[in-house]
Amino acid sequence: MSNHEKTLLTTPFIPFTRPHFNQETIDAVAEVLRSGWVTSGPKLAEFETALSDYFGGRPVRCFANGTATMKIALQVAGIGPGDEVITTPISWVATSNVILSVGATPVFVDIDPVTRNIDLNKVAQAITPQTRALMPVYLSGLPVDMDQLYGLAKTHQLRVIEDAAQAFGSQWHGQKIGGIGDLVSFSFQANKNLSTIEGGCLVFNSVEEAKLAEKFRLQGLTRQGIDAMDVDVLGGKDNLTDVNAVIGLHQLLELPKFQARRGALARQYFDAIRSELKAASLESLSLELPVENFSDTNWHMFQVVLPLEQLQVDRAQVMTDLKDLGIGTGVHYPAITGFTLYKNLGYQLSDTPIAQRIGRSILTLPLFPGMADEDIGRIAAALVGILKKYANK
Ligand SMILES: *Cc1c(COP(=O)(O)O)cnc(C)c1O
Repeated sequence: MSNHEKTLLTTPFIPFTRPHFNQETIDAVAEVLRSGWVTSGPKLAEFETALSDYFGGRPVRCFANGTATMKIALQVAGIGPGDEVITTPISWVATSNVILSVGATPVFVDIDPVTRNIDLNKVAQAITPQTRALMPVYLSGLPVDMDQLYGLAKTHQLRVIEDAAQAFGSQWHGQKIGGIGDLVSFSFQANKNLSTIEGGCLVFNSVEEAKLAEKFRLQGLTRQGIDAMDVDVLGGKDNLTDVNAVIGLHQLLELPKFQARRGALARQYFDAIRSELKAASLESLSLELPVENFSDTNWHMFQVVLPLEQLQVDRAQVMTDLKDLGIGTGVHYPAITGFTLYKNLGYQLSDTPIAQRIGRSILTLPLFPGMADEDIGRIAAALVGILKKYANK
């Protein structure tokens, strides 16, 4: 029997994340299925209203997924061929894929090694006459400095499309992410803090732009009366169904509880990892923990940067060792500029060296509301035990 099999017999496997849907949600889905109206309808309208209330009355529209949401944000902002959009190389590839998909050019600015978000101090030097928008990403739900972001946008007259896919429930100085700003995009994909299985929403400043987004969402269709149909822009098929919307309505009710639990688990991680490092006399190891921010971030993930060079080991080996101990991990994310599509477009990993290093060494540890307190201790001990094994080699 392998180590892996032995461990699985005695301890349950902890995935890096797991969505949670309560019985009320399941019952509400069944009700929609029985209602005779399953695609976009009354539940979607109710969800959009609830989201708008949540974001302080700003207009909100939902879409089939976060990727469609961001693409439509770019279309609403009129961004297309010849335009440049400044973004980060450490994100889910959707961020830059949508820029390419509207015919614009992503410009990658290196990240801050502490926040792991785009380094706003390096943005000004990347701005050209073609720059039209800034697209920051809030990795793990930690926002960038909003004053600095919107200061740059104002100075250079740029739109901002916030890829807040991971930041539902996050804040900036007491204000909700999405409650402030220009176009703010969220994802409700299964792993996100608030999930509709697949889905997303965009928060606007004007009803005109929200209406334009509705057109892009459904084939560019306009209706003026019961039998007057027209299509005047090229739209897609990106609507959210009532089945998804009703899940979102129930997740919204559970969100405060989810948030509190994520925050508590994250605190335990800091304590547990530090005390394990101390017990193993490994305090000099440069294991990088997240920013210890308990006011702004929604703790979408708990990510560490492994001291791979120091230990002469690769991340895949550490992940396999953790898996053998019944612990699932994830990689969020390798730098986008290392992907073949982007290399073929002429991007170079070495242009953003911090992203290159962090993309190679970042590791997502399990964090989801359904985890037990004991899980954190077990994971911290396993991680530090594995690092000690390589440190002693
Ligand atoms: C999840 C995610 C997306 C895409 O959202 P989907 O709903 O999966 O299309 C985009 N950007 C970031 C940073 C994400 O985490």
